[in-house]
Amino acid sequence: MSKLKTIQCVICKRDIEHKVHNGRVYWTQGNNAQPVADGRCCDRCDVGIVLRTRIREIQKEMRK
Ligand SMILES: [Zn+2]
Repeated sequence: MSKLKTIQCVICKRDIEHKVHNGRVYWTQGNNAQPVADGRCCDRCDVGIVLRTRIREIQKEMRK
């Protein structure tokens, strides 16, 4: 077995869950936490915090 590293979310510090398809792990890296933090984040923080921040920044850009 290849050793799979579990990385921690830079926002909530919890382990990022591995994504599994047909019993095989195909992704362990989570999501890009920019612009909220520098590193990787879990799905929950990506949807709840990172995407919302990105949308807010886009809206700010459009108002210029
Ligand atoms: Zn998180």
